[in-house]
Amino acid sequence: MDSKRYRVGKKVNLSKLPTDDTGKLSREDSEAETLEIGLELAKLQDRLYAESKQSLLVVLQARDAGGKDGTVKHVFELINPQGVIVTNFKVPNEEDLKHDFLWRIHPHTPAAGMIAVFNRSYYEDVLVTRVHDLISDKEAEQRFKHIRHFEDLLASRGTRILKLYLHISSEEQRERLQERLDDPEKNWKFNPSDLKERARWPEYTSAYEDALSATSTDAAPWYVIPADHKWYRNRVIATLLLDTLREMNPQYPEPEFDLTNVAVGAI
Ligand code: AMP
Ligand code: MG
Repeated sequence: MDSKRYRVGKKVNLSKLPTDDTGKLSREDSEAETLEIGLELAKLQDRLYAESKQSLLVVLQARDAGGKDGTVKHVFELINPQGVIVTNFKVPNEEDLKHDFLWRIHPHTPAAGMIAVFNRSYYEDVLVTRVHDLISDKEAEQRFKHIRHFEDLLASRGTRILKLYLHISSEEQRERLQERLDDPEKNWKFNPSDLKERARWPEYTSAYEDALSATSTDAAPWYVIPADHKWYRNRVIATLLLDTLREMNPQYPEPEFDLTNVAVGAI
């Protein structure tokens, strides 16, 4: 599978990009392949951790019920939890709001050897804030510039950045939100404000198109992942992670002392 085919450039038109792609795979095959990819991912992650030079940042963005939590659960469970830190970014608190919008983000960027997953991110500061008219278009443009510089900074320190927009259709969102109402075990996930945000579907579409177009760079490209089918979404993301880690090609470090005459004796 060419996972890079979902990469987008400087003119993103979401209505032209598929939400329901399946790559002509069956669900069964796809799930089995995802698990297999996981074994390879775990090996590369072990090297990344041991090498402790490079790091990987995965930014997950989506509309409500778009599958961010499911992606964390089903894709990142394939990797040793010790090497992964997931951060959920919620509404900024009072202290956050006294600083620039990247202040609360920076401490969560991945240390050498680590994979960081952002479940929502600083992109909310150019999405929800725009849809709710909390910032002007001019401020949004400034923030795009700051974001590009911030991501360049991280890249120059050895952080690979993958930004994933989980692309679902409005019908798929309707079904998933309805399920949260119908299934008692999913009730806790339902937030009445999700319906208000859903009503602003077109505003979110244009905010996403602007943000993706302005910030899909070589250092930090965006991928628009077809996400109506969860199993295909997982499969594409696992492949993308695999291809990325292979390109990063982490190596076990050379031992710092001569091991040839060392043995572990009995005690
Ligand atoms: P959830 O991901 O469903 O737990 O919801 C988190 C909420 O926090 C969403 O409604 C986001 O839009 C909101 N949120 C996250 N980051 C920001 C931000 N920087 N500014 C405003 N709202 C945010
Ligand atoms: Mg929510």
